[in-house]
Amino acid sequence: MRVLITGGAGFLGSHLSERFLAEGHTVIAMDNLITGSADNIGHLFGHERFRFMKHDVTDYIYIDGPLDAVLHFASPASPVDYLELPIQTLKVGALGTHKVLGLAKEKKARFLLASTSEVYGDPQIHPQSEGYYGHVNPIGPRGVYDEAKRFAEAMAMAYHRTHGVETRIVRIFNTYGPRMRLRDGRVVPNFIQQALRGEPLTVYGDGSQTRSFQYVDDLVEGVYRLLQSDFAEPVNIGNPQERTIEEFAQIINELTGNAAGIIRKDMRTQDDPQVRQPDITRARTILGWEPQVSVQEGLQRTIPWFRSQLQQLGELA
Ligand code: UDP
Repeated sequence: MRVLITGGAGFLGSHLSERFLAEGHTVIAMDNLITGSADNIGHLFGHERFRFMKHDVTDYIYIDGPLDAVLHFASPASPVDYLELPIQTLKVGALGTHKVLGLAKEKKARFLLASTSEVYGDPQIHPQSEGYYGHVNPIGPRGVYDEAKRFAEAMAMAYHRTHGVETRIVRIFNTYGPRMRLRDGRVVPNFIQQALRGEPLTVYGDGSQTRSFQYVDDLVEGVYRLLQSDFAEPVNIGNPQERTIEEFAQIINELTGNAAGIIRKDMRTQDDPQVRQPDITRARTILGWEPQVSVQEGLQRTIPWFRSQLQQLGELA
């Protein structure tokens, strides 16, 4: 296959690029590098089946030659980023999705949308299955991301129903691993670097809010399987192991041997979901997929990467 991955220089896009290359496909990674980084794909530049295009997907896209699949992963994805880039976030989810769907239609390519558990908002149903319509505040600070992704899902289904484009929608739950940006503000990068510096971990609010964290390799496997399936409705991909943020902080302190404990900060964003856990019945049934990597294993693969990043910056001995 010849595959276009938007957001190809981002955390998930770079792991997906690697996977598609390893499976023998040709990859065009597109990114405007506002939150992605060429460092994430530097090691792929010499690869004969890899090409990078610095381009903003909200502008007209021209790709020479055939395409078999388009994976739309471009978007700021950390709350800190999309609060700083609200209009770009709305544009990439709305205008960018429209552009890449048009491209997929033109090339008769399969289209896969990276959607999010944020479409469920601050959920009133727990755990969240794909049939739940969500509880999103459209005008709150998170609305720029949540509504852009909800619009993107609606757009994908419209192209599917109206133009017969083969579309797939993955609803991604909290994912972590190497190549998350050090300063992207999400809980995993924050906690790991605080722990490595021997500082207390900043738990926002009372720490009773929950998240369910999946390791990036599990997500990549789920996306790969979903693309090959013939299922157009959304599929949750996440690890159902749910923990409070305070429990998660304790695990990271244990794994890093950090004795500085935690510090509570009154920094939860408005509409920060109180709970989040995927119901993965659909992924199990349709894709035969379930997560393989425990949080301890995943963190043990992620912590050394953050350590080396901090060492390269001279911030850690
Ligand atoms: N959080 C925290 N300390 C941090 C960063 C985040 O306690 O240093 C909390 C945040 O309030 C939220 C959860 O961790 O409840 C997950 O936040 P993140 O930004 O990683 O992503 P979200 O799941 O909210 O999109």
